[in-house]
Amino acid sequence: MEKNQQQDIIKLIDNIKVGNSKISLLENNILLLPINIKPAAITIILQKNPSLELDYQEIIKKCETILSKKLPAKKINIILTAHDKNDRKLKNIDKIILVASGKGGVGKSTITANLAYVAAQSGLRIGIIDADIYGPSIHHLFDIKSDKPSLSDDKKIIPPMKYGIKIMSIGSMVEEGKAIIWRGPMLGKALNNLFYGTDWQELDILFVDMPPGTGDTYITMAKNFPIHSSIIVSTPQKLALIDVERSVDIFTKTNIKITGIIENMAYLTDDNGKTKNYIFGSGNVEQFSKENNIEYLGCLPIEAKLSANSDHGKFSIEDNKTAYQLCKNILNKFNH
Ligand code: ADP
Repeated sequence: MEKNQQQDIIKLIDNIKVGNSKISLLENNILLLPINIKPAAITIILQKNPSLELDYQEIIKKCETILSKKLPAKKINIILTAHDKNDRKLKNIDKIILVASGKGGVGKSTITANLAYVAAQSGLRIGIIDADIYGPSIHHLFDIKSDKPSLSDDKKIIPPMKYGIKIMSIGSMVEEGKAIIWRGPMLGKALNNLFYGTDWQELDILFVDMPPGTGDTYITMAKNFPIHSSIIVSTPQKLALIDVERSVDIFTKTNIKITGIIENMAYLTDDNGKTKNYIFGSGNVEQFSKENNIEYLGCLPIEAKLSANSDHGKFSIEDNKTAYQLCKNILNKFNH
């Protein structure tokens, strides 16, 4: 069924008319397969063919028109990935790194915050965007709840800073507790505002704390911004990995490099720290990494201090040597 649908869609959009001539998207390596077909949506990835001068906006429009007409019940997402991502590099931001997981509550925000903290402590210029529109928590983690951003002379938002980290959150732009039901274009606009409407000045790394799941934010991110790479966070349970697999899938389809997976809450140590209890099981994340050819970056235990410090917007290398070392190793992978 799925295979037939692929073929049907390919038939519809291959050989479309661009300018005065017909062009095969498949033969010219513009249409990437497989097409992602979901009951409610179809996501099509196109890439530029460097040896052909084409109007890609026209191609996108044509595909959209044809598909929405033939498949009116489905949302049509068309993503154009750049061949050379450096073409799209932002002038003032060296690397944009996404921290993602399939599931909420696995420690994604905690790990983003710790990575940013360790990077800033070692002298790097760091920013964070909390893109988790459904449960923004970075501003809580850094205890910057009441800091309202101010405006620069050229009307850009001056981001609040903590530990030298510039922090922007969708959470600081909306009233606390309000249910946010933003989709597609609105979400894209909000994210654009966070990226381009913020006075970041120069940054070595901008971390983006992604929402759980594989929804609109992922597609918007891949479409609009030059992403350097992504880090995936998982807990040890097999169930968590089912969701992680979906994140891997969308990163692969949107051509976003995966640096590796961090296993969080991997074990509990007894009081003197000598015995490790793998209460959620062990080995699943490592096995998943091997099977999917993704690097296993290491693990963090369940640590009361990590959680308590996060609750109070407090970070300390002394209190958390395991997290510090893991973050340091990961940052080395980005040559920092
Ligand atoms: P996510 O961003 O994936 O939703 P959070 O980072 O908000 O997850 O973490 C969820 C909760 O788990 C928070 O209360 C956080 O302090 C706690 N937590 C995260 N990692 C650990 C850990 N290694 N040990 C103990 N508590 C943790």
